[in-house]
Amino acid sequence: MDIKLIKKDFPIFNNDPDLVYLDSTATSLKPRPVIEKEREYYEKYSANVFRGIYKISEKATEEYEETRKIVQVFISAGSSNEIVFTRNTTESLNLVAYSLGRKIISQGDELVTTIMEHHSNFVPWQQLTLENGAILKVMDVSDEGYLDLENRHSGRRNATGAVVDRDSGHRIARASGGNQSGMTLNNLDKIITKKTKILALTYVSNVLGTINPIKAIIKAAKKINPEVIAVIDAAQAAPHMKIDVQDLGCDFLAFSSHKMLGPTGVGVLWGRYELLADMFPFNFGGEMIEEVYLDRTVFKYPPHKFEAGTPHIAGVIALKTAVEYLQNIGMEKIRQHEAQITQHALNELNRHFSGQINILGPNLAAQKGGIIAFTFGKYHSHDIAQILDEVNICVRAGNHCTMPLHDRLGVNSSVRASFYLYNTIEDVAKLITGLKKAQTILG
Ligand code: PMP
Repeated sequence: MDIKLIKKDFPIFNNDPDLVYLDSTATSLKPRPVIEKEREYYEKYSANVFRGIYKISEKATEEYEETRKIVQVFISAGSSNEIVFTRNTTESLNLVAYSLGRKIISQGDELVTTIMEHHSNFVPWQQLTLENGAILKVMDVSDEGYLDLENRHSGRRNATGAVVDRDSGHRIARASGGNQSGMTLNNLDKIITKKTKILALTYVSNVLGTINPIKAIIKAAKKINPEVIAVIDAAQAAPHMKIDVQDLGCDFLAFSSHKMLGPTGVGVLWGRYELLADMFPFNFGGEMIEEVYLDRTVFKYPPHKFEAGTPHIAGVIALKTAVEYLQNIGMEKIRQHEAQITQHALNELNRHFSGQINILGPNLAAQKGGIIAFTFGKYHSHDIAQILDEVNICVRAGNHCTMPLHDRLGVNSSVRASFYLYNTIEDVAKLITGLKKAQTILG
């Protein structure tokens, strides 16, 4: 990969050549072809989709549906009818929790998730269990940032039979302890049971960077209970590695266009067709209906049943260009580049700030995405991010929408540096220099 050439495709670097962008986990930068594709829609065939009996509307519809096909191939889905366009990962996950969750979950049922989830794959399930008297079980992580699949701690039961946290009384069953060598699927039946209806799991943690062995977990979970529905948050996986939903064996998978070089305001939900077909719509309105009468409505088949109202047409159309851009480079090469730069950054951070820096999650790039979150001495993450910003380095500071994880790790907030295909070894050197500056200023 020629990073210098790649950077030339990103107009933001023409405007700001010294920019060190280390926040692609929040959102990625956009290459020129994607920006131009959005513009092409507005300048050449800016009509609504599915509605017009005229050429530019037909062209817009054709382009919109082309994206569905390319996304299908991108994640190796069986049919483009399994690809639903939403606003973002958050909406995709809420759609499943609402439309499927409210249909299949009732009192006493169990949902399993993990403590490393982004709030968008945690709160929808938590709220569902609170509403329906179901039980939320939360897999813990080890101190090293790996899922504790042994579930050595299972809480206590409250008066309603729900499993609750021993200390807070919150309705969870929490595992604890463990490390990677203790990671085993043999005891998964302590947390996945015949009552488990949903397994909601992130592929790659947006803080620890940990790449979870989701294929093995799903296989083991379905062996215990074939009815378990596996919902995968791939927000930090789809932009960075090859995904094959059929090989993974999951039932739903969600990701966002804006994290993979595409426009904001577009998300993808992939679901197995028979599940989508059986689900109630999430929103009602135009273009999701077949027939409407005064007393009843016949809905369209998926995916259109889930795409009520005018979508982000330009965004969906330009997502196709983003996927093509990634495919032209190759997902394996992108993963390799990120792993190299991440390992280099881990080595440099540990070398320069030994004893002061606390890396959250694995210290080995082979086991994580291009994400390094850390705490640094006694300094507040916001102070560090502000000083780095003064030298034009963008990092994220805070809890990164993972409050339960930060609580579990015993930290209030962390600094997060993340890498993508346009980041270089020089960016890492600048980060190190910036952190030294922060050290000097903050004392
Ligand atoms: N899941 C993960 C793992 C994420 O990193 C993010 C974004 N930080 C989301 C979900 C939510 O994505 P969006 O804001 O695009 O809905």
